Amino acid sequence: MLTGTVRRAQGGLYEVETPDGVIEAVLRGRLKREQRTGEKVVVGDRVDVQRESTGEEEAWTIENVHERTTVLARKAPGKAPRPKAIVANVDQVLVVFAAAKPDPHLRMLDRFLVIAESSDIAPLIIVNKVDLIGIDAARAIFAHYERAGYTVMYTAAKAGLGVAEMGEALCGRLSALTGPSGVGKSSLLNAVQPGLGLRVSAISEAVNKGRHTTVTAQLIPLECGGWVADTPGLRELGLWEIDRDQLHFYFPEFENLLDDCRYPGCTHTHEPGCAVRAAVDAGHIHPGRYDSYRRMYAGEQEEGGWDG
Ligand code: GDP
Ligand code: ZN
Repeated sequence: MLTGTVRRAQGGLYEVETPDGVIEAVLRGRLKREQRTGEKVVVGDRVDVQRESTGEEEAWTIENVHERTTVLARKAPGKAPRPKAIVANVDQVLVVFAAAKPDPHLRMLDRFLVIAESSDIAPLIIVNKVDLIGIDAARAIFAHYERAGYTVMYTAAKAGLGVAEMGEALCGRLSALTGPSGVGKSSLLNAVQPGLGLRVSAISEAVNKGRHTTVTAQLIPLECGGWVADTPGLRELGLWEIDRDQLHFYFPEFENLLDDCRYPGCTHTHEPGCAVRAAVDAGHIHPGRYDSYRRMYAGEQEEGGWDG
């Protein structure tokens, strides 16, 4: 028995990276039945595989799936929405924005941060194209995310600025990448490792053209160890599964204030004696972040070119 990581899944075949190399496996009968009703095995899953010899044929089967540390799920089509797992065990999500061209849409960033927080996945904010406005101007736009406790990296893919740091953050981890179109995601990945961005954007383009079913989820290995998830459907991640009463837990800068609101069950939208609103008024919480909270609480949608 060997333990490995599923790095590709298509048509009932699973490519598993093990300490002894990459093997192709099928699901053991019990798992196969469960796979039909749920997403028992997805890319990123840690699995135990067993070799079976039947005559000359040698085949590997997936015997067991380890408990997942995290799951990124999207809404499955159908009348009753339910989460459909797309990738398991993601360690971090790189949320990529441009300092300019396109101008950063911070409400979309806030939404993605909530998705990452609610999935228990560490977000890393990448601000690319800092060559266009300079690092100081870029910092001025994103400083309040650093104050809220987020890690922000400033990069310029073409000039190679910050690329080594971003590459280091990827090593040894399973990362997912998201952000609007045209911010430089492919360029950054190519700068980290030649060819990497090309592989990822090939999938994203297919997804954008709506060819979902033919696209295979996979993990792209990094030379330094670790993977970048290349999974269709990441762009459809939404807030649909987040209970609005939980929303305040996903704004880290609210965390220490929640016990100080006058009324238990305070929604921080209109109640008197609200500690969150007081912190906004005192300048401790950025008004844009609070505005995002209120909009998400009210169930508003955001539109924009959002890639997986
Ligand atoms: P993606 O859609 O997020 O994958 O973005 P791409 O990597 O395709 O880049 C979109 C455009 O932005 C391309 O024309 C790139 O050459 C350009 N670009 C990418 N990174 C940078 C950068 O750091 N600075 C500048 N000025 N342009 C960049
Ligand atoms: Zn409150």
